[in-house]
Parts: sequence; structure tokens; C-alpha cells
Amino acid sequence: MSKRDYYDILGVARTATDQEIKSAYRRLARSHHPDINPNNAAAEEKFKEAAEAYGVLSDPEQRRRYDRFGHAGVSSSAGASWGAPGFGGIEDILGDLFGFGDVFGGARAGSRRSAAQRGADLRYDLEITLEEAATGMTAQLRIPRLETCEGCKGVGAAPGTTPESCQTCGGTGQVRYQQGFFSVARTCHACRGAGRVIGTPCTQCKGAGRIEREKSMEVKIPAGVETGSRLRVQGEGESGSNGGPAGDLYVVIQVAEHDRFERQGGNLYSSANITFAQAALGAEISVKTLDAEQLLKIPVGTQTGTVFRLKGQGLPVLGGRGKGDLFVAVTVVTPTSLTREQRRLLEQLASVEDKDLEDKGLVDKVRDIFG
Ligand SMILES: [Zn+2]
Ligand SMILES: [Zn+2]
Repeated sequence: MSKRDYYDILGVARTATDQEIKSAYRRLARSHHPDINPNNAAAEEKFKEAAEAYGVLSDPEQRRRYDRFGHAGVSSSAGASWGAPGFGGIEDILGDLFGFGDVFGGARAGSRRSAAQRGADLRYDLEITLEEAATGMTAQLRIPRLETCEGCKGVGAAPGTTPESCQTCGGTGQVRYQQGFFSVARTCHACRGAGRVIGTPCTQCKGAGRIEREKSMEVKIPAGVETGSRLRVQGEGESGSNGGPAGDLYVVIQVAEHDRFERQGGNLYSSANITFAQAALGAEISVKTLDAEQLLKIPVGTQTGTVFRLKGQGLPVLGGRGKGDLFVAVTVVTPTSLTREQRRLLEQLASVEDKDLEDKGLVDKVRDIFG
């Protein structure tokens, strides 16, 4: 199971204030609370998920790390050195909000920790140009992520030593104490619920078992991708813990705005200016396509706003066949400054045009338009 985005879980924007995050969490916690939904595993899962998201987003430092590195920046499943309130912190959060400790009971927190866990998925936002989207490309990515420490194979203990059972909780990860009539269990603070402590930490990872590294890799971006296209790179996410498989890397594409072309799926849209003479007499003009130039025939009597289609000059369709088209809208440009010669010729034209228009009455023209 891959981890969901913490903001998505709480249903808040990335810009949400602390108060909005707190309210969103309280709302979720109330509707999915195990007391209200007894024996409902799905509700309990939602409840825990929300608690974990709240644990990270309510802490400014954790939130900053999460915004920058995603789940990899705040993961705490590998050991005690990561100060993140991951699973170990949930009971504490509940305790703060609801006034009691253990709602899940027993040693489940401890057993979950030692089970193999799949690494979190990572998201990488990649901005590319429209030209790159058209041809496809090989992108060089540099991804900050947590990798299993080679020095201790992810255990966190220095080579030759092993983690010892926690003396505070006797290895259960929980400390029980009496509160009124109730026996309340809380996550052990000495081992953060892991049930074991590392006496001699590995020097390379300082006991965390994982190391933050920037990994460089090449990813093939296929032709035709659009803004929002997601490419999954299997096994290139965060390392798993306790021998679990690595998560996946999702490359999310953002295609930059182009100064000449608008895009819609495989089709491109652009515009071209023509002179009055070209519009009236017809012409051949040169228009820019995405990668070259092409001649476009302007027929006699072309009006402003006429759209011409250049077949196959759009983008390839992702995962499909063929290419889109390029649509060029022409604008007839009225000259703003004239040479003496141009002025003379236009005045000559005007005198002829005037006669023409006089021949046709206003009523006839209206009839032409609406008739
Ligand atoms: Zn290590
Ligand atoms: Zn302990």
C-alpha cells in the first residue's frame, strides 16, 4: 500500500493554516473514531492515516521537511533517531486530543514496526518545454530520498552489535499505567514504540538505518505528454524498512506555457498577421510550426478570423496513433503609417471603393448579412 499525500488525507490546501489543519483533523478524527466505529477496520485505518498526517503537518519543522522531500523527509519507521511523530506518535496525539491513551490496544504498534514495510512513493515535479513534449526526451532527475544504510543494512546498530530490548517497556513498545479505573497504555518514549534500543548506533546513519541521499537517474519521457501526465518508475521510491520493497517514483509532468502556441490535446493553435493586400488578392505566407516553417496559402478574399488547418503539424497523441493538427487564425492588419506611395494608391482604391458602396444601399447590405 502506498502512502497518500498528507494534505489530501486531511482535505486541506498546501497553503492551509495551522488552525485549518487542526480543524480538518478534528473533523476526520470525530467521524472515524474507533469508539464510534467499533470493529470497523476501514474507519480505524482512516483514523490512523489522519492522525499520522496531522502529526507531521502540525509540526512546522516536520511540515517544512514534508513539503520539500515528501514522505521521505518525515519517515520514522526505520528507527528512533528520526524525530518524526510517525506511527509511534499517534497515541500521543490521540491522548492530547481525546484525553486518553491507547485506543488500538496491546502490542500491535510493536509488531507492526518489526514487519516488513513497503517504502513510500515519491513524487517528482518535472517542467518541460512544449518542444520536449512533442518529441519526447530523456530527463536527468536528481531526487532526494532515503536509502537503506549500507553500513548496518538498515538495522541502525553498528556492525557487530545488535539492538537490545528496551528496558523501560520490556520490549513491548508500550508503557501501561493506572488512571482512575482504567489501565492506560502509552507509547514508550525511551524506544518510541520500537521495543528495542540501539546501544551502539551505526556511525554512517547515526542509528536511523536509512540515509538521505540525492540519487541521479535518467527517465524517458514519451512524446505527447501533457501537464498532469504521471509516469511511474517502479522501485525508485523510498527504500522499504525491515526488508520491505521500495516504493515507486511518480514523475508528474508540467508543460511550460509557449509564447507562440496554445495546446489542446494533440492540436496546436497559433495566429498570423496578413496585410490587406494579401487578404484581398491572396498570397502565400510562411508560418512557424513547432519545429520548422511551412508555406500557407491565403486564398483571395480572406477575412480576419479565418482559421487554416495544417494537418499533422500538432503533437503526437500519447499512447495513440497519429499526430494532431496546427490551426492558424489570421488577422488582417490595418496599416498605421503609410509611405506617400502607399497613401496615393490607397486613396485611389478608396475612390473606387466609395463608388462601389454607393451603388449598394444600406438596406441591401443588411439583407446580405441577415437574409
Ligand atoms: Zn547505518
Ligand atoms: Zn521501550
